[in-house]
Amino acid sequence: MLFKSQINRKTLPCLSILVCLLYFLVALAWAVPFISKETELNLGRKADKEVVKQFGLYQDKALQLYINDIGQNLVSKLVNKEFSRFHFRLVDSSLINAFALPGGYVYVTRGLLSVLNSEAELASVIGHEIGHVTLHHGAKLMLRSIGAQILSVGGAFASKSPGEWMAVSSAIFQQINLGYGREAELESDAQGMMNAAGAGYQPTGMAGFLRNLRKQEMMSGQAYHSFQASHPDTKERIIKADLMASSLSHRYSGLQSKQNNFLSHLQGLVYGGRQNSKDKRRYKPQYLEIYTVKEGDTLENIAIKKLGDKRHALDIAVLNGRRESVAIRPGELLKLVRNGVYEENQAANAVHKLLDR
Ligand SMILES: [Zn+2]
Repeated sequence: MLFKSQINRKTLPCLSILVCLLYFLVALAWAVPFISKETELNLGRKADKEVVKQFGLYQDKALQLYINDIGQNLVSKLVNKEFSRFHFRLVDSSLINAFALPGGYVYVTRGLLSVLNSEAELASVIGHEIGHVTLHHGAKLMLRSIGAQILSVGGAFASKSPGEWMAVSSAIFQQINLGYGREAELESDAQGMMNAAGAGYQPTGMAGFLRNLRKQEMMSGQAYHSFQASHPDTKERIIKADLMASSLSHRYSGLQSKQNNFLSHLQGLVYGGRQNSKDKRRYKPQYLEIYTVKEGDTLENIAIKKLGDKRHALDIAVLNGRRESVAIRPGELLKLVRNGVYEENQAANAVHKLLDR
């Protein structure tokens, strides 16, 4: 809403031309000079093992399958079929992040899942990461930062010396933490939104996610680290994502956000806690409970009833990407942060009921 005033009907034809141009550029995703597809694949395969070791996979088969299904569906809509096999993994980290490795490896943290509010938002984020792969952002940045080593690795990556691999590996982890720079991030936003809309998702998902993140950042003073480091200013990304969403909405019909389907998958998700597998700090165990709004509920009375203090109403509003003043409707789903360890059976029936709808 904040940026709605920037869009008017006169700008729409220009936007359509812009979107067509972007489409053309994305379809023309060129390979990286001097780095073969084989090298990118080998590089991704080897670094994937390190990523999995560093973070650990989140132990929930159903959730892993859910992320993979969304990712594979997005991949099936790509015009660019250069990388045919993509791997999607949910890693066990409370950090809010998503990242990709060359060759088709895409990762989402459970911390990111907990701040998202619909499948459309998740699809935009996954689409953004797929964009980094198909646009070769990782390989291009590596070519700039450690040119000599990456040129020397050729196709037979696994047999190269540990020293060479160290340089490549540290460049990869730097990308995971800092992103790929302003232009590449905006390019991937555009690609992710087009990809998500092509797969039937509301393109407003990206702007919704970024706006929500910005609010959380202002509330907690903690930034989604890639945002402040090298992602372009969140505000600029939101404006661009809004403009593009408006244009895409005119080109597709029947687009969905799949909010309830997404939220029902988060029942029992571990909240907060360890950031990676080496993090041995002691955290108070917490998880997400998915609450179905009842007749007469307000955020305040849910905060009192479920969390024991009406002051948590604001936390609930922020976590669910909404304003405290906006009324909630019976049947809507809300995320609540609960203390303790989630007991498998306690809400299993509730989830089944939600999925049956
Ligand atoms: Zn990115």
